[in-house]
Amino acid sequence: MDKTLYNIAQGYLRFRADFLSESGDFYRRLATNGQKPRVAIISCSDSRVDPAVITDTKPGDMFVLRNVANLIPERTSETAWGVRAALQFAIEVLEVEHFVVCGHSGCGGVQAARRNEMIGPQGQRLDDLSVWLRHLSDKFSPLESQVKELDPELHDEFYEKIGIINSLGNLFTFPEIERRVKDGQLHLHGWYFDIKRGELMAYNSAGYSFVPFDSLIKN
Ligand SMILES: [Zn+2]
Repeated sequence: MDKTLYNIAQGYLRFRADFLSESGDFYRRLATNGQKPRVAIISCSDSRVDPAVITDTKPGDMFVLRNVANLIPERTSETAWGVRAALQFAIEVLEVEHFVVCGHSGCGGVQAARRNEMIGPQGQRLDDLSVWLRHLSDKFSPLESQVKELDPELHDEFYEKIGIINSLGNLFTFPEIERRVKDGQLHLHGWYFDIKRGELMAYNSAGYSFVPFDSLIKN
C-alpha cells in the first residue's frame, strides 16, 4: 500500500476504533432513524473546504452537495441533472429549512471560469470543465468593466463572491424552491470561506455585501 493510501487506511482504523468504543450508538441511531438534516449546503469540491469541518457539525446534520466552483446552473441547463436531482431530494424529500451556497477564496474553478481557459498542466484542453464552467464565464463577461475599478488583489474574491450570488439566484429557477422561499419554509444563505484566515462571511442580500459571519451570531 502506498503512503497516501496507508495514511487514509490508518484514519479509517482510528474511526473504527472510536466507532467501537464511543460512536457506535450514535451511528446506530442514524441508521435506525434515517437522516433528518435541517440544512443542505453546496460547496466547492476543493479539498480544503469541507462544510462539516468548517461548521464542526456531525454526520446527519447537513445534506451536502459538492461540485467544481459550488455551481448551481439554471434549472433548464442540460448539464444540471446531478445538481437538480440532489436539490429535489434535499427540498422535496428531506424538506430542509435552510440551503447554503458556500464559496471560498483561491477557487481554481472560479479563476478558470474568469480566464475562460480550461487548460490542463500538460497543455491539454479540458472539455468537461469548459462546458461546466461556461455557466460562470457567461456571467462574468459583462462584469469586466466593473471589476477594473477594484484593487487587482480583490479581483479573485470579487468573482468568487459573484459565483455565490449567481448560484443563489439560479436557485429561484427551481419552482419548488421559489415557492418555499416565498412561503417562508426555506431560507437561502450565501457563505464565503477565506481559507487563509479561517473566516466565514455571509451574504447580506439587502446590502449586496458580505458581512462577517460572527456579526450574525451576535444579533
Ligand atoms: Zn473552489
